[in-house]
Amino acid sequence: MLPYIPRFFQAYELVPPDIYHLKKDKCFELIDVRVLITLDDLRMFFGPCVVNDWFWGGHFEQSGLRTSDAPEFSPTSQHTFGRAMDCKFKEASADKVRQFVIETRLLPHITFLEDDVDWFHFDVRNTEQIVLWSPVTKKSRLV
Ligand SMILES: [Zn+2]
Repeated sequence: MLPYIPRFFQAYELVPPDIYHLKKDKCFELIDVRVLITLDDLRMFFGPCVVNDWFWGGHFEQSGLRTSDAPEFSPTSQHTFGRAMDCKFKEASADKVRQFVIETRLLPHITFLEDDVDWFHFDVRNTEQIVLWSPVTKKSRLV
């Protein structure tokens, strides 16, 4: 079976600079294939989407795969395992995207969403589908 190479995302958009410089396009091996497929699907539904923008001089470096030098690093975060992305869509709010995912079920790999934040965090952890968790209230519910 061939590896899945995303249609709309380059490897440097999904990992921090030090990892990209080490592995180049092999970085796709570090990201769960369900995440890569979901990113392409989201891009097709909602248009341009930024995960990391450090390659173009922006300040997002740790919105995809997250490494231990990140201030927000956690050893148990799904970002640590290449199973989570924080997406910033140019033409859609995070709320709108969350609502779409919950209502349509057209993105079958997503099992977990963060609520009450202005980026779209999704991940594909091994859990009941779909858990909506708020970092503000620290509460989660099935949706
Ligand atoms: Zn996240």
